[in-house]
Amino acid sequence: MKFKELSQVFTKLSSTTKRLEMTAILEDFFKKLKCEDIGFVVQLCMGKVFPANDPKELGIANNMMIETLAITGGVSVEDVKKLWKIHGDLGETAKYVIGKKKQVTLYSNDLTLDKVKENLYKIPDMTGKGSVEKKLKIVSELLSNADPEEALYLTRIVLGSMRTGVGEGVVRDALGKAFNVTSDDIEKAYNLCTDYSYVSETLCKNPKNISNIKLKLFSPIKVMLFKKVSSVKEGFEEVGKPAIIEVKYDGMRLQIHKLGNEVRMFTRNLDEVTRQFPDAVKYIKESIKANECIIEAEMVGFNPKTDKPEPFQQLSTRIKRKYDVDKLSKDLPVKIFCFDLLMLDKKSFLDDNFEERHNKLVSIIKPNPNIMIAKGIKTDSESDAEKLFTEGIKEQEGVMFKNLKAPYQAGSRVGFGVKLKSHMTELDLVITEAYYGKGKRRDWFGSFTLSCLDPDDGKYLSIGKLGTGFSDEQFEELTKKLKPLVMKENNEKVVLTPSVVVEVEYEEIQKSPTYDSGFALRFPRLIRFRNDKKPDEIATISDVEELA
Ligand code: ATP
Repeated sequence: MKFKELSQVFTKLSSTTKRLEMTAILEDFFKKLKCEDIGFVVQLCMGKVFPANDPKELGIANNMMIETLAITGGVSVEDVKKLWKIHGDLGETAKYVIGKKKQVTLYSNDLTLDKVKENLYKIPDMTGKGSVEKKLKIVSELLSNADPEEALYLTRIVLGSMRTGVGEGVVRDALGKAFNVTSDDIEKAYNLCTDYSYVSETLCKNPKNISNIKLKLFSPIKVMLFKKVSSVKEGFEEVGKPAIIEVKYDGMRLQIHKLGNEVRMFTRNLDEVTRQFPDAVKYIKESIKANECIIEAEMVGFNPKTDKPEPFQQLSTRIKRKYDVDKLSKDLPVKIFCFDLLMLDKKSFLDDNFEERHNKLVSIIKPNPNIMIAKGIKTDSESDAEKLFTEGIKEQEGVMFKNLKAPYQAGSRVGFGVKLKSHMTELDLVITEAYYGKGKRRDWFGSFTLSCLDPDDGKYLSIGKLGTGFSDEQFEELTKKLKPLVMKENNEKVVLTPSVVVEVEYEEIQKSPTYDSGFALRFPRLIRFRNDKKPDEIATISDVEELA
């Protein structure tokens, strides 16, 4: 298949903001595709080269792309930077640069989808000395064979900012319509395998096989999420009596996959963290008495001197570090608190009720001080639950209430479990714009637009501005993190690819015409960066409406 066909579809998609029109464009296109092409096409439509369950990344930021464009277009880096300022977007800049070049050179438009895939798939393996040059060459080869329109989309694909407005929801609905399957069935299948390319290939070969997609060892599942409640009474109302009430640990959610002596661990973001936590791998091998299993747990960092839990922020430094891991595991040892069992010895436990899953989990864990079952009680007593809550908020975050009869529903916030925390006025939001600071902070971003998600069309809706709660180091760190995400620059304001998720607390949510969401946060303050969350997991507009 020619890459041109796909870039024409991207252009059509860009011409509308209406979700139904986008769905219809993709439905039409998906119907025509060969099964060997559909998987990669679906990924690219969502702006992602690799499926969510694949940890590979291209690792190409704006600066490398600027250099690639300069080399390919036969212009200087300064010229590309100037053009970027004018066009406000590197994709448009690429279109212009390649367009200019094509006016003076002969070229045949033979860029195929396979060639794009072949080249992009080579990039993640390019590491170490000389890797920058190699990456540059491989992207440049694609751009040299691209026409201006293709160059625009190739650039955006490589930078991970497609901006066609197509999210998982539109792709899911379009696949459903194209293959006559409900969106719900597609979502269920995706939540189990977290790979839309595999889901779409399966649909293309035989739509009936969608129900055969099952939980697979070493492929992370979309975890079940929990609703919030504001009292013990409400907790019981949601999950019924009796319930299992557990301490809500303040750490990182860990999905443990084990087969014999092989252990791999994933975050709720589906990122693999096995290499960063050799200590956790050791505890799992020593204490989980099952050959093959998938377990969910919360991993918490502890102070090695006092044996007291450290805040999540500390643990996130271990998640990010890929070297010195042994030293870090001494500086911040972890403990693992297991709370659910999803698979045991080839049997999926997703449809079993929580009490059965929990009993099985207890039976396969030989607890020790580093790995154990989450502390909890089975009770129908509100006063016992209150007692555990008081204990839970003293050292950790609160408690979870779990419905004994409920199955495990991957990827949904269904209320089969609920959380009760001490402070309820916080939201996870994504940074979508930033403003340069003034005075001594003029080189750093000093304030940030926060947005919530409209899951129906994958759009981010602004809800407030954040500028407090940061230390100088955090302003600097955040500026470094956000710079590669800049899509558009407009004097002191930049528009960003939504990527960095923050947890903020606020005094109140008010109705407001100032922001796209129709709401404004009063006095938002940063609590912490949520490196473990992706932008599609932040607060939705309906969460905001409910809180307001
Ligand atoms: P929060 O921001 O409140 O941690 P979240 O948005 O990350 O929540 P939720 O699913 O809404 O995710 O809240 C539950 C989270 O609490 C889980 O993702 C898990 O990481 C953590 N957790 C801690 N202890 C437990 C436990 N005993 N059972 C289940 N989840 C637990």
